[in-house]
Amino acid sequence: MTRIAILGAAGRMGRLVVGEVLQSTDLCLVAAVDRGGNGVDAGILAGQPACGVAVMPLIPGCFAKADVIIDFSQPDALLDAIPEITCPLVSGTTGLGAVTDGLADLSGRVAVLHTTNFSTGVTLLAHLVAEAARALPDYDVEIVESHHRLKVDAPSGTALSLGSAVANARGVVLSDVAKHGREARPGIRPVGEIGFHAVRGGDVIGDHDVWLLGGGERIRLGHVATSRATFAAGAVRAARWIAGKPPGRYSMTEVLGL
Ligand code: NAD
Repeated sequence: MTRIAILGAAGRMGRLVVGEVLQSTDLCLVAAVDRGGNGVDAGILAGQPACGVAVMPLIPGCFAKADVIIDFSQPDALLDAIPEITCPLVSGTTGLGAVTDGLADLSGRVAVLHTTNFSTGVTLLAHLVAEAARALPDYDVEIVESHHRLKVDAPSGTALSLGSAVANARGVVLSDVAKHGREARPGIRPVGEIGFHAVRGGDVIGDHDVWLLGGGERIRLGHVATSRATFAAGAVRAARWIAGKPPGRYSMTEVLGL
């Protein structure tokens, strides 16, 4: 049995992860941490039968019984949690900012896997996109992403990760070649530019398309998320994989064996 603690357990993603853990025969929930829902049974909160684990705030020792922590919270919560973490961490929290350095330090003490997208399909897509960018070095790359109307940041972290996959494959720095949208008279497209375009509206969970445009043809590699459950399943898969691993940084690519 791998013992799991969840940070952000009362949130949209946290509740899905609670559900995944409770339905697994090889995992057991030992802590559900959140600033909301305190005292409520985590199973009930997740729409499951009661599991005997009440949601508790982030307090010293809250992760003491865990073999792996799964985090879907907010950057400030993750920052506060870092001193309490003594076992492997799987984190999907986005917009990390300064917390990035905290995770780098933490990875000297425990195994850390952070990704902006836990979907198996997006992990594979990034792999395929890197292969395509390497194979077609002179093709223009444009990345188009669509999300629901409530999303506050643009482009998505996933779009930026896909852009990084292209930039890394071509040996350039993404910020040197990224172009975010076009208007007025941007002029002729520079060679090597990577374009980003964000569509916002409705209840789109997350669509990502990477276009590679050459002379006389274009390739589109894409992914459509139809349920947040795919992110929860990916995080739980990563938690199983990272249990018992030594300190260091790990990626979903390794989890999938790509
Ligand atoms: P949410 O707002 O529904 O849930 C976040 C939870 O964290 C809330 O229950 C909130 O009470 C809790 N929280 C916030 N600050 C806290 C603190 N200081 N102490 C304790 N608990 C605290 O959001 P969500 O949709 O579940 O997303 C959570 C995060 O995961 C976001 O950063 C989101 O962008 C990210 N996300 C990542 C992936 C991925 O695949 N990596 C997928 C979906 C969402």
